Amino acid sequence: MSGYVRRGQFDRSCDMDLRFSASQEQFRQELRRWLEQHPPPELPPELPLAEEVRLLRQWQHTLWEGGWVGVHWPREYGGRGASLAEHYILQEELARARSPELVGRIGVNLVGPTLIAHGTEEQKRRYLLPILTAEEIWCQLFSEPGAGSDLASLRCRAEPAEGGYWVTGEKVWTSYAQFARWGVMLARTAAGKRKTDGITFLIVDMQSSGIEVRPLRQLTGSEEFNQVHFDRVWVPREQLVGEEGQGWHIAQTTLSHERGTSPRQLVIHRILLHEMLRTARGERDGGPPLSAHPLLRQEMAQAWIEVELFKLLNWRVLTRLQRGEKLGAEASVVKLFWSEMSQRMHETALHLLGPRSILLGDPRGFAHGRWARSYLYYRAATIFAGTSEIQRNILAQRVLGLPREPR
Ligand SMILES: Cc1cc2nc3c(=O)[nH]c(=O)nc-3n(C[C@H](O)[C@H](O)[C@H](O)COP(=O)(O)OP(=O)(O)OC[C@H]3O[C@@H](n4cnc5c(N)ncnc54)[C@H](O)[C@@H]3O)c2cc1C
Repeated sequence: MSGYVRRGQFDRSCDMDLRFSASQEQFRQELRRWLEQHPPPELPPELPLAEEVRLLRQWQHTLWEGGWVGVHWPREYGGRGASLAEHYILQEELARARSPELVGRIGVNLVGPTLIAHGTEEQKRRYLLPILTAEEIWCQLFSEPGAGSDLASLRCRAEPAEGGYWVTGEKVWTSYAQFARWGVMLARTAAGKRKTDGITFLIVDMQSSGIEVRPLRQLTGSEEFNQVHFDRVWVPREQLVGEEGQGWHIAQTTLSHERGTSPRQLVIHRILLHEMLRTARGERDGGPPLSAHPLLRQEMAQAWIEVELFKLLNWRVLTRLQRGEKLGAEASVVKLFWSEMSQRMHETALHLLGPRSILLGDPRGFAHGRWARSYLYYRAATIFAGTSEIQRNILAQRVLGLPREPR
């Protein structure tokens, strides 16, 4: 293996410490007991998005009251000061209990850690607690119609003025913008030598005048993400994060928190695999016992192997983080692997379940269209948080030492 490794990123990574300490196991047991007493809500299949968001805010609030939101945040900002291993255990247990994802996940997972690292004390005191309690939902205003993978090409302008900035431009694919009270935005305050120069990181009040949010319909039929138009929107200087023009550097903190480990995806895909196998054995959903089909047997064995590999990838990343080492290209391997694994597994499930499995919103649909909806949802997994092509570019350059693509 070392013949392929130019920068020493993977050569020491095969040794993993797979044990959790006694206190970490105690944390797991405490959480498991709490989840038994406070079972997560089960959302009906065709629930309107606004109603789903309302129920999920309640659920996040309940979790917060139990002390289970932002556990790895510092105590002074409402966290528990827990270790990364405990944060990982939390994700595992929530997924195991089939808890829906946090409705405030952009705030908890991306904005909070960015403000903790780069925000002023006033910003931390103002914004962090309502993120945990779900009183205030956040959105991420990074992508634009001409700037997704090539984010540094962004054109949204923040014109410096006395006491703040006038923001004008267009953002797109902004998840939950229609429910958000605040957004973190990248906007250009000056032109620079490099595309990454002159980008500034701002907190935007989504109730400001001059903002128009237009929901976009996704494959699943839901309208989670939006196009957001800014027409001379005023952003006071107190909402600048870090230094003006240093936004690219700050955004790296946000983006690195978007990749990294995926314990939640590990548990979700273990559950999906388990359900698929039970169906194949004719044990649930009235599914046909098709496990004797030679091609399906191959696909299902492959799905099991991939989930096991994904577990090892997660453990390797966790071990590295626990040792206080920085994550390198591992984050890209994890993101790439789980997103493509998920799509293969969903295809196997639909092969297994047959034509009824693709019916959505139709009483003849298999399991109320649950598999079809999940299949469509996970088509986005190879796009958000960096597409598969971009992850492979990162690996080609940083691990294999191949030259950068020509610009
Ligand atoms: C469900 C979902 C939710 C999202 N939520 C948010 C959000 O809340 N906030 C936000 O800011 N953004 C969000 N995004 C946007 C997401 O970050 C972008 O879609 C993603 O970065 C890709 O950008 P793009 O869509 O502009 O595609 P493009 O960058 O235009 O890419 C188009 C295709 O070209 C390929 N490509 C591009 N450049 C290269 C290259 N150099 N080499 C090889 N291939 C290349 C890509 O892989 C892709 O297949 C969301 C996206 C999805 C799907």
